Amino acid sequence: MLNEQDRGSEDQCPPRATIHCDECTIQIGDGYQESVPFEFVDDSESDPRVLKVCWRCWESLTRRKTKRLAQAREQHSGLIW
Ligand SMILES: [Zn+2]
Repeated sequence: MLNEQDRGSEDQCPPRATIHCDECTIQIGDGYQESVPFEFVDDSESDPRVLKVCWRCWESLTRRKTKRLAQAREQHSGLIW
């Protein structure tokens, strides 16, 4: 396993720090397959978190969120009877 803390001291200030996708843990940064991190607000819990994720995870998280919201609406409309 690579020890993340061992590297970095010799890096000469990259233009953008490399981060890890909070979902799939791939690296996001210049020179990587994913170069731009996306912010996703996970409000499925009572305590919303902001995730930094890659595009693909952002897409799938957003799809899940949209579905969840749609289902929540359906459940509310179901309360009528
Ligand atoms: Zn990801």
